[in-house]
Amino acid sequence: MVAVAIVVFVVGCADPAARKIPVVSVSIEPQRWLLEQIVGDKMEVRSLMGNGGNPEHYEPTFSHLANLEKSVAYFQVGNLGFESAIMEKVQANNPDLPIYCVSDSIRMILDTHHHDHHKDSEECLAYDPHTWSSVKNAKIMAANMLRGMKEVDADNAAYYTRNFITLSHKLDSLDLMLTEKLAPVCGGSFIVWHPSLSYFARDYGLTQLALGMENKELSVEETRSLIDRARSAGTTVFFIQKDFDRSQAVAITDGLGSDIKLISINPLAYEWADEIQVVADAIAGK
Ligand SMILES: [Zn+2]
Repeated sequence: MVAVAIVVFVVGCADPAARKIPVVSVSIEPQRWLLEQIVGDKMEVRSLMGNGGNPEHYEPTFSHLANLEKSVAYFQVGNLGFESAIMEKVQANNPDLPIYCVSDSIRMILDTHHHDHHKDSEECLAYDPHTWSSVKNAKIMAANMLRGMKEVDADNAAYYTRNFITLSHKLDSLDLMLTEKLAPVCGGSFIVWHPSLSYFARDYGLTQLALGMENKELSVEETRSLIDRARSAGTTVFFIQKDFDRSQAVAITDGLGSDIKLISINPLAYEWADEIQVVADAIAGK
């Protein structure tokens, strides 16, 4: 009777649901979605930054950084403001933590973002960090994630590769669907507050007209000239992020004419592909 009880106890402990699985870290939620498709049930994926906030000025909390220290690897987006701010500390505290940049080999866009140089109050061009707004880029990001996972957990390399192939097919069909949907409006344009859709615009031959650049708001003259440009381009949508003051956007759309639709988007959503489809549907006028 005692022996049976012990056997049940031992089996209970071996229950895979009760087993702690290793943690792997990413910077933002869209990356968490992507990496989860690859690691399946072998790893738990955690984001340093939750839903909301601005990735260019975000500061991870102490507990976020502590999670990172328990991770088997860290996949950063690359070029995100908060990543460079924590990098030194992360490397000093975890000299053995493998760190991968998932935007490696993406053709970067250089004319939408600026670095501030506080000393001489000069600005210089910086890479646009919003690489995840593009399905084509997401495929490259996934390939970089696969490469990293095969290195840190070689035992499961075949499993990760199989998942990656399934994900690749999913991304290819999403890209094809978006290409078809946006073909009739190719050459068109849309307005955003922060330039977070540059790579999306490039993929489908669209022009992104950004009203805000980094922290800097446009002057009245700059706004007016942008409104004129948007009018002559026949722009019908204006995407705002949930942290953006809606009344300010309404004032701008009033200047543009009543046919401009204000649409709230969250470029940092976990359901990343759904967000992209909201953007595409709005531009396609669906
Ligand atoms: Zn940005």
